[in-house]
Amino acid sequence: MPSFVMTEKCDGCKGQEKTACMYICPHDLMVLDTERMKAHNQEPEQCWECYNCVKICPQQAIEVRSYADFAPLGAAVIPLRATDAIMWTVKFRNGILKRYKFPIRLVPEGSVDPYAGTPEPNFDEISKPGFFNLSLS
Ligand code: SF4
Ligand code: SF4
Repeated sequence: MPSFVMTEKCDGCKGQEKTACMYICPHDLMVLDTERMKAHNQEPEQCWECYNCVKICPQQAIEVRSYADFAPLGAAVIPLRATDAIMWTVKFRNGILKRYKFPIRLVPEGSVDPYAGTPEPNFDEISKPGFFNLSLS
């Protein structure tokens, strides 16, 4: 089932122009009601249930009701994101809680240089086929 916002937890990302859930949704579904400072999913039927908004929300204010192929009926699956891992809590309908930690990075956050080891682009060759980081000569 699509994402929904627990409005008592949402703080509108403290009035940021673009909230975390608006930034991350691949389908641009999240919107902020600036009068109430509460976000909501504007088109639930278009939601992919990708969990991106659930994982990024700093207030843990967003939930997705899982389908039975992913979690047992009535269970809630709640992520708590850190810089190198996500702690997942599965809350079963009988009250049992299970937790597991899943690593999401192999190197420290912010340490990746995507252009490390690549040459500076040669703009004289801009119209030639190929990639800037490969030499054609
Ligand atoms: S990311 Fe969370 S706290 Fe921020 S606006 Fe969205 S639901 Fe509210
Ligand atoms: S679950 Fe994914 S598609 Fe649905 S609102 Fe959140 S980020 Fe967007």
